[in-house]
Amino acid sequence: MAVRNILILPDKRLRLVSKPVAKVDASIKKLVEDMFDTMYEAPGIGLAAIQIGEPKRIVTMDLAKKEGEKKPQVFINPELVDESDELSVHEEGCLSIPEYYEEVERPDAVTVKYLDLNGKAQEVKATGLLAVCLQHEIDHLNGVLFIDHLSKLKRDRVVKKFTKAAKQPAKDMLKDARKAAAK
Ligand SMILES: [Zn+2]
Repeated sequence: MAVRNILILPDKRLRLVSKPVAKVDASIKKLVEDMFDTMYEAPGIGLAAIQIGEPKRIVTMDLAKKEGEKKPQVFINPELVDESDELSVHEEGCLSIPEYYEEVERPDAVTVKYLDLNGKAQEVKATGLLAVCLQHEIDHLNGVLFIDHLSKLKRDRVVKKFTKAAKQPAKDMLKDARKAAAK
């Protein structure tokens, strides 16, 4: 079991465009295992590889409704091939933007092509939560975060908050060092 660190806003790596997986080999399977370990530990329902610092087009997901039940899903090189004109609004959150939730409007239904863990081509027509998660995670592979779908005002506010929080530990350390030096 390998729980990896999750990158947090404003980490610049979250803005990278991830590269397609050329071959679903043992190293990819190991990475997928780490992604599930990290996602379940968080806990979260979806994770893109870039969120643990790996710029590869891989998404893990588990949308099981019942507690204790597991329904792991893997999407390698997922590609949005169709989307409905009809839109719907869902509240979204992100493991890279902890404890921040906002409503996002996206196409209600999508068709996604991808490779499974055996490297076999698959296609899924998704609605509801699966459609939301697939779009959210595919966004990650393109360096897009769900806050990019919000108004500039809301986005600026959350980026500012997380940028400030990221600087805080360094400031606290400096304060402690000064205190120690004054003694
Ligand atoms: Zn996310």
